[in-house]
Amino acid sequence: MFDPMVVKKDFPILKREVNGHRLVYLDSGATSQKPKQVLESEREYYEQHNANVHRGAHTLGDEATKLYQDAREKVAQFIGGRDDEIIFVRNATEAINLVAYGWGLDNLKQGDVVVTTVMEHHANLVPWQEVSRRTGARVEVVGISDEGLVDMDDYTQKLKLKPKMVAFVHVSNALGTVNPVGEMTKMAHKVGALVLVDGAQAIPHMKVDVKEVGCDFYAFSGHKMLGPMSIGVLWGRKEILESMSPFLTGGGMINEVYTDHSTWAEVPEKFEAGTPNVAGAVGLVSAIEYLERLGMDQVREHDKQIVGYAIDKLSKVRNLVFLGPRDPEIRSGSVSFEYRGVHAHDVATILDSEGVAVRSGHHCTMPLHKEMGVVASIRASFNVYTTKEDIDLLIKALAKVKIVFGK
Ligand code: PMP
Repeated sequence: MFDPMVVKKDFPILKREVNGHRLVYLDSGATSQKPKQVLESEREYYEQHNANVHRGAHTLGDEATKLYQDAREKVAQFIGGRDDEIIFVRNATEAINLVAYGWGLDNLKQGDVVVTTVMEHHANLVPWQEVSRRTGARVEVVGISDEGLVDMDDYTQKLKLKPKMVAFVHVSNALGTVNPVGEMTKMAHKVGALVLVDGAQAIPHMKVDVKEVGCDFYAFSGHKMLGPMSIGVLWGRKEILESMSPFLTGGGMINEVYTDHSTWAEVPEKFEAGTPNVAGAVGLVSAIEYLERLGMDQVREHDKQIVGYAIDKLSKVRNLVFLGPRDPEIRSGSVSFEYRGVHAHDVATILDSEGVAVRSGHHCTMPLHKEMGVVASIRASFNVYTTKEDIDLLIKALAKVKIVFGK
């Protein structure tokens, strides 16, 4: 097992002080920090290779094109797909919109059903609402159990509606729940639906093999997995991608253009209009290499240990109410809770004054918070640099809430 204390040293920002305290960064679910290897790879790209991607024009153009293509291959190998099934986008949100619009506008019609769950991030709910509004389809939302797991009885019932698309999250950003995505995919395929998995919170913490999951689309962002912002990935099955319309059109994604119509480039270029984020793709490769050096099995082991330790320690703090399952085997990346009698934003402000960064609010899961009857919660979220000492400092800072509010 790697030592997170040693890992921490690779992250320059974690040496910072905030409000006179060592920064305790517990907001990795919103975005992870970046190791120096990622920062250096982006810098080297801009210092040595920067050009737009067009093969054959000049040497730098060739180098940039090759680096971009190599990045596609690296991502494909990391998630068990093929390189011509990897579409670079800005983030998971854009990946899901690409499918909702590129597939949904052509394939959904009046009366069709899209199934999703109440624990979705808005990124995997709002695009389906929008496309349904335009096509006459409707979104059916599966509920959750008291423990914060997908209600499989409700899921079974909703599948009886014969949805055309089923879209669900791999790991919930608010509950930490790890969903049984393989089983859920199989069940959806039995009724003839396509399956999109939102992997934004899974990919930083565990080995994901899209072929093993068995889904048709898998979406994630680079910035939550130690990579740069504004580079994300949509993996999709080649034959489905080929049948889909482009989401964005313009330069870089065409085969031939006439004044009255155009034809498209092959997949994946068909879905990558405009100048791509080559530096981001290069940084993402570096992030993947970093995670691979640690070993994804070890990354998940560390994740479970930190989640388990955080739940254990936080359980002893008075007035906290946990959201989501307590078993680290079905939980990943974060621990969310309410502080009885004190608003989440007030708790976060006090923690920040002690150098502890957490997220407070609804974490882009408003329907989930409404369903649970929770106005706002506090989320401590982790990555490979999170240590038990960080959790201890969170507990210590929470003591200040008690002093200030007397609760
Ligand atoms: N899905 C989940 C589960 C997330 O946690 C997030 C980010 N909070 C997203 C989607 C959207 O990611 P991005 O903002 O990078 O598009």
